[in-house]
Amino acid sequence: MQKYGGTSVGDSERIAAVADHVARTVKSGKQVVVVVSAMGKMTDDLVHLADQVSKTQTPREMDMLLSAGERISMSLLCMALADLGVQAISFTGSQAGIITDTSHMKAKILDIRADRLWKAIEEGKVPVVAGFQGVSTSKDVTTLGRGGSDTTAVALAAALGASVCEIYTDVSGVFTADPRVVSTARKLRAISFEEMLELASSGGRVLALRSVEFARNFNVPLHVRSSFTWEPGTWVKEEDPTMEQAVVSAISHETQEVKITITKVPDKPGVAAQIFRSIADRGINVDMIVQNTSIDGFTDISFTAPRQDVESALEVTEKVARDIGAEAVYGDQEIGRVSLVGAGMKSHPGVTAKVFETLATEGINIEMISTSAIRISCVVRESQLESAVLALHSAFGL
Ligand code: ASP
Ligand code: MG
Repeated sequence: MQKYGGTSVGDSERIAAVADHVARTVKSGKQVVVVVSAMGKMTDDLVHLADQVSKTQTPREMDMLLSAGERISMSLLCMALADLGVQAISFTGSQAGIITDTSHMKAKILDIRADRLWKAIEEGKVPVVAGFQGVSTSKDVTTLGRGGSDTTAVALAAALGASVCEIYTDVSGVFTADPRVVSTARKLRAISFEEMLELASSGGRVLALRSVEFARNFNVPLHVRSSFTWEPGTWVKEEDPTMEQAVVSAISHETQEVKITITKVPDKPGVAAQIFRSIADRGINVDMIVQNTSIDGFTDISFTAPRQDVESALEVTEKVARDIGAEAVYGDQEIGRVSLVGAGMKSHPGVTAKVFETLATEGINIEMISTSAIRISCVVRESQLESAVLALHSAFGL
């Protein structure tokens, strides 16, 4: 399975380069199935076009629109392959048998009926499948949510029993930190599914989170690599003894969250439930939560939520704060989050202490903390985030 992202098929030259690589792979004797994203920023452009045309963007019509992008790249790639003497045949998500539920723009794959793909493979053809789309149980075209082509590729790889799912992109793999921030960041040779899940959910932008969940659940090895240099990239697979036994494997960071604080919350059973129920009912995903020890029966509660939801998050929090008799609500968008991920953390005490010491030495105040078995995340001032990433990257010898 080879998946090519938007930049990899961004213009006619890129499509020719991809066709060339697919042709070489076929000529080396391998059976290949290809999944493509829309060219370059085409999906963004289509969203923008819809914004200009209408305020009534029903999800069904948006899916019909957005799924068009991948049709362009898949058909062009097949034409380019034909010039190289490779028989290829394109399939929309629906034709490829990708059956989803009916939730437009964030559909979940329910089943894959890959008989047309198998037939093509048996006929010696290379199936080229449109990423990011499927057909719902009520026969409408659906899309899987932005970045969904990764998920298409991994799901098809699992369904077809592919030996590897190669994700071709514009970076050469998964790095120990974002190379734009840390110039000495190094490409990882391999990383476990669990680590990749933590990275993808804490700001790592290389793979869509759902595709990694799929890969883990069906044990599909991923190889994230560059379609510009074609060099070997990073393997994402089950943890095994050949992997680097680093305590910390990588550091990610993100600035897409807001911190919301409610002060003087009456400290009694049911209050937190009431707050977070109201927020959940708005469809807002809360991440970190911190509650202070109460003084005189009152406490402060802070939590983070996606910055894109800041308005509705503040509105609903202010309402619930009034209902429960809390004092005030503050929103703070000037925060950033740094996360350290490493499977070795499970067996190494002292990682947290070293993180705190490192940040203290830099004069960086930690505002919130959350951990999992293999991740430590700290919220700090956004203005200090890059210094935090740099300091931690060097402190942990990455
Ligand atoms: N073209 C879609 C998007 O831009 C899907 C993808 O690229 O994975 O979100
Ligand atoms: Mg994309």
